Amino acid sequence: AQAMLFQCRAGFEHDLAQELAALCQRHEIVGRTTFEANAGYIVLHFDDVIDWGDAQKTLSSARLCFARQAWPVVGHVDALPERDRVTPIVDQLARGRTAVADVCLEYPDTNSGKTRSGFCKRFEAPLRAGLEAAGLLKPALRKAPTLYLFFPDAESVWLGLCEPRHASPWPMGIARLRMPREAPSRSTLKLAEAFLALLDHEERDRWLRAGGKAVDLGAAPGGWSWQLAQHGLRVTAIDNGPMDPALLAEGMVTHVRADGFVWRPKGSVDWLVCDMVEQPTRIATLMADWFLQKKCRHAIFNLKLPMKKRHAALRQCIDIIRSRLKGIPITLRFAHLYHDREEVTGYLCRQDTR
Ligand code: SAM
Repeated sequence: AQAMLFQCRAGFEHDLAQELAALCQRHEIVGRTTFEANAGYIVLHFDDVIDWGDAQKTLSSARLCFARQAWPVVGHVDALPERDRVTPIVDQLARGRTAVADVCLEYPDTNSGKTRSGFCKRFEAPLRAGLEAAGLLKPALRKAPTLYLFFPDAESVWLGLCEPRHASPWPMGIARLRMPREAPSRSTLKLAEAFLALLDHEERDRWLRAGGKAVDLGAAPGGWSWQLAQHGLRVTAIDNGPMDPALLAEGMVTHVRADGFVWRPKGSVDWLVCDMVEQPTRIATLMADWFLQKKCRHAIFNLKLPMKKRHAALRQCIDIIRSRLKGIPITLRFAHLYHDREEVTGYLCRQDTR
């Protein structure tokens, strides 16, 4: 049977399964998901023989909101012997005669999963040695896939093969970012991760240019404004609450006490970011209106999803944005970031901005 494994934040399995079901339906892929609540991953089993190239593009973690990591499964081993976990894994791979260029060891981002991080670190060297001895590790082989191993528990493993460009650039899809000491709040990591997860390298280079103008709605105490200022953007920070005085003293950020739903800039700005705690449909409507009024070129915004039916709530927001901007070619992406909890982060831009 063919399958793909997807990793997500524990507790979001159901949302991810619904997102996958909708995407499969739209692309006429026949599959069914299996998962346990709070396990931090789900498996999608395909009923038909599928085109892997298409499936991987359609179901990549970059396109999915609730998946951090996604790759095609090539095998599963149960009852790994404690003394030698390498041999059964190498044997599985040898059967397919696939050489790999690299390995990536993963485990669920759950409390019990985390106890496997030490094992994964220790296991990597013997695994590489075993693969090398079997002639299956060829780091110089261009286009060779990476071997992904996912340990749901200490005795079993899912094996996957995936070209790194189709998978998340980070193991387990987790961007581990260092908290900058000078940043006014931990939220700063959310925007830093959003830039990495929602834009590619070229887009960041082109659009996060020094000298640009940005507006930050719901800015206090200033973690997101700080992040924009780091990129050399001049920021108007809208919030009735107090901003970090040290950030304001640096001169890149101007604080305006106003209602973020009402305030608009005189001309237009390069970036709009929004982290106001409000109903997601209100935020979605506001974002669309800024684009309709040509007030910004790019937007990154957070949608708080404290409700149970998070996938449905997100769909509703997507529909609002698409219907309000009907006829305008847009790029709209969403990611449930590692630094997001009961919330997701969106990126919106007009395609004619390119
Ligand atoms: N992104 C900020 C950071 O990195 O420091 C944190 C923002 S905090 C989660 C939400 C902020 O939105 C609060 O400071 C709150 O005052 C502000 N807010 C909520 N509703 C607002 C509104 N209608 N207009 C302006 N600010 C609003």
